[in-house]
Amino acid sequence: MQNDLILGKLEEIIEPSFVSNRMEDLYIYSQDPGASLPRKVDYVVMPETVEQVQEVVKLANKEKIPIIPMGGGLTLSGLVIPLKGGIVMDMKRMNKIIDINSQNRYALIEAGVTSGQLLAYLNKNHPDLQPPIPDAPPSVTIAGNALIHGSGYLSQKYGDHGAMINGLEVILPDGEVYKFGSCAISDYWFTRGPIPDLIGLFISSFGTMGIVTKLSIKLFPKPKMRDIVFGLCKDPNNLPELITKITHREVAEDILLGIQDKPDWMKGYTFIIVYITGESEEELNNKTKILKALYRKANSRYMKVPKHIEDVFLEKPQFAAKAADFRKGGGFEYVGAFIPLQLIPKLIQIGTDISLKHGIVPTLGARLIGQGHSAMFFISYSFNRADPKDMENARDALHETNKAVLEVGGIPWKAEIEGQQLILEKMDPNYKKLLKAIKNLIDPNGIMNPGNWEVK
Ligand SMILES: Cc1cc2nc3c(=O)[nH]c(=O)nc-3n(C[C@H](O)[C@H](O)[C@H](O)COP(=O)(O)OP(=O)(O)OC[C@H]3O[C@@H](n4cnc5c(N)ncnc54)[C@H](O)[C@@H]3O)c2cc1C
Repeated sequence: MQNDLILGKLEEIIEPSFVSNRMEDLYIYSQDPGASLPRKVDYVVMPETVEQVQEVVKLANKEKIPIIPMGGGLTLSGLVIPLKGGIVMDMKRMNKIIDINSQNRYALIEAGVTSGQLLAYLNKNHPDLQPPIPDAPPSVTIAGNALIHGSGYLSQKYGDHGAMINGLEVILPDGEVYKFGSCAISDYWFTRGPIPDLIGLFISSFGTMGIVTKLSIKLFPKPKMRDIVFGLCKDPNNLPELITKITHREVAEDILLGIQDKPDWMKGYTFIIVYITGESEEELNNKTKILKALYRKANSRYMKVPKHIEDVFLEKPQFAAKAADFRKGGGFEYVGAFIPLQLIPKLIQIGTDISLKHGIVPTLGARLIGQGHSAMFFISYSFNRADPKDMENARDALHETNKAVLEVGGIPWKAEIEGQQLILEKMDPNYKKLLKAIKNLIDPNGIMNPGNWEVK
């Protein structure tokens, strides 16, 4: 079918002002803020209803045109830039907050609801509840984040955001609506079980299985008070044990680590950022005392920081990314690796060595996930977007890091296409065989974000 005929069909499904194949509209969808090279997009559509999503998917399946679901498009690793052309489906118009169930603490939302939108809505209407959101810009979607095993506030206490999904409504490539979780049986979107749990198929599959139109995400009680107890650790080998001890005492809502060569005073130290919460000053003081004692025992020390710096760290989402723009070229991308705690010292070494080798200021960190069950360790590479050589340098550093992470036993998170292939190379063959069979069953024409997770 000719391109203009496809455009006409898309315009029959969605109002023409939300369908485009114009170069100036496609340009912005052909790249993301990370280090990937731009790639070709044929159409962009912005549906408003489930029925419109269904009809576009049916058309794409009939014509064998790739379709790429996109939320905020801020994953940085090229996951929403088509590898084989096709239709980018921008979900931002599907932005209804359908229900807040405050008793069972979940939000039922459409896939285009952003983290800023849900946070603002809860602050206004349910000030005793908080959503799990990342430290990313507020224009990212709750769905896009949860669907990549994102993490952020509350992750140390309750796990990564993929674990917080109670239920999904998904349009599969046959154009039908499927429900997963308790919503497949009950009017309440309150839990994933007790039935075979198929929700995992849609997490970290990068839009290769179907298009999520609704999801239920867990909400959490918002404590009255929140504070930070900073620590400084000189010897990274002390960190795994120290973190295990902190999580064991159950005093931390969140734990972040920061390792940077700039500003100069940070060089050679790990900056420990422990968020504590409570209902009274007394509770916060007790938790602070426990943490100070734990820091001391681990040959680390408590650090008092000026109030204006503390306030920056207490912001949601916080300043993190601004600090990474050392090259003043507006670009950064990171390898975020899921690792067991004992790998933290090794990853500090790997990240520092690779950064220095590529002439990039080391900017590393970690976020604890699920009471110390794992950590997301990030190694961030800044680059100047106006300089193709500098971008290539960052891509090389990212690739080298993915390899090194896999070698020592970690797993790159939200990996770009090259990283996905490295993971697949190392994956157990039977896992791959099953993944391929499931994918072929769900998407026999290979239309969903093709190229990603492709088992060769
Ligand atoms: C400055 C900065 C800070 C960041 N900090 C964090 C952080 O603290 N924690 C963290 O987890 N991440 C962080 N990120 C990474 C990323 O921005 C977030 O994880 C973000 O929430 C991803 O959501 P998105 O809406 O941008 O997803 P997108 O990039 O739009 O999509 C992500 C993936 O999900 C798929 N997808 C999106 N919507 C759907 C759908 N409806 N159906 C099926 N598949 C879909 C896409 O195809 C893609 O593969 C950060 C990024 C930046 C730029």
